[in-house]
Amino acid sequence: MTQPLTFCGGLASTNAYLVDLNGHLLAIDAPEGFLDFLKTKKLKPHSLFLTHGHWDHIWDAADLADWASCPVYYHPDTAPLCLQPDSMLAFGLPQRLRPVQATQLLTDSTPPPASWPDSQLLHVPGHCPGSLCLYLPQSKQLFGGDVLFADGVGRWDLPGGSREILITGIQKKILPLPPQTIVYPGHGPTTTVGREKSSNPFLQD
Ligand SMILES: [Zn+2]
Ligand SMILES: [Zn+2]
Repeated sequence: MTQPLTFCGGLASTNAYLVDLNGHLLAIDAPEGFLDFLKTKKLKPHSLFLTHGHWDHIWDAADLADWASCPVYYHPDTAPLCLQPDSMLAFGLPQRLRPVQATQLLTDSTPPPASWPDSQLLHVPGHCPGSLCLYLPQSKQLFGGDVLFADGVGRWDLPGGSREILITGIQKKILPLPPQTIVYPGHGPTTTVGREKSSNPFLQD
């Protein structure tokens, strides 16, 4: 398992990743500019996974899926935002976005797509009801979206958010992962589970 390719772009400096799963190129989130980045690099993803439905993560999603002719995956609770992105106009979405349909809805109780070998899905709501993290146990990589950041956690003040649910979810589902697990977040630099467990100010009580 190699290092993921990282892209950061858009008004909210949102991270997207391209992961090579034994030759299957998985794009994770689709901020503004990610599609142009992939076109320039001539890298066509084989599937697109959306960690959650906030506008800064789905900006290029519909166009990317069209260009790559690839399936799109997200959690059922992400569907309302992805199918009616204009509902976010009142909460900071700067312009209208194209809706993006899921090819298949994913939860943490159904197996991930067969083309994502050795992967696990963790449903960690609280930032957004449909927040799904993708964990790759062999390479100890966690693609966490806006759940856990270096020295921070996702904001819980947007519709459907809850501080208690978010912190409990992180403590129950993410902190038990091996401490050396690398966290690839939706914003900011990478970190590790062990580092956040010992020093993240939101997780110390
Ligand atoms: Zn978000
Ligand atoms: Zn975000």
